[in-house]
Amino acid sequence: MADVRKGLIIVNTGPGKGKTTAAMGTALRAVGNGMKVLMLQFLKGSWHYGELDAVQAFGDKFIMKQLGRGFVKVGGAETDPEDIRMVEEAWQQAADAILSGNWDLVVLDEINYAISYKMLDPDKVADVLKRKPEMVHVILTGRNAHPTIVELADTVTEMREVKHAYQKGILAQRGIEY
Ligand code: ATP
Ligand code: MG
Repeated sequence: MADVRKGLIIVNTGPGKGKTTAAMGTALRAVGNGMKVLMLQFLKGSWHYGELDAVQAFGDKFIMKQLGRGFVKVGGAETDPEDIRMVEEAWQQAADAILSGNWDLVVLDEINYAISYKMLDPDKVADVLKRKPEMVHVILTGRNAHPTIVELADTVTEMREVKHAYQKGILAQRGIEY
């Protein structure tokens, strides 16, 4: 096993289930190795996610914050300026956190959506990723990862949907989906 640490840029994208939960699994692994994790959720969903309560058990080793609102309207011109403002604020927090070097792993959950909805400029994100402290790991999740981010990343995984319970009309299950 490598003992030379190198901060990685990891992207979890694609239409299948598991992007956010895989990032949380990695976060758990990092915390278990004594690392500090910050997870920022860019476009929060409509549910209260169980993980928000679970991570409190880790104290300041694993902080998770929901930024922005749920139910963001899709589509360039129709996007509510308030949502764009909130994404920009979220991005400022994310950039500060990455550049501060205070965190070993920063997870930017659903940031790919924010970029693909044109609420956030991929070049701004790329610029910070290029300047990040060497040791800091960053995970970016969400469908439709931008080519600029994919290009820059070290590890990119595309979740492929083979099938999903939702298609059978099974609604989101507590503890599994939220
Ligand atoms: P998860 O949070 O379960 O890892 P995800 O991050 O890959 O999912 P998102 O695109 O963020 O998926 O979707 C958020 C919500 O939609 C979650 O409740 C998730 O379980 C559900 N979901 C994910 N993929 C699908 C799918 N292919 N069809 C229907 N619902 C899905
Ligand atoms: Mg997700």
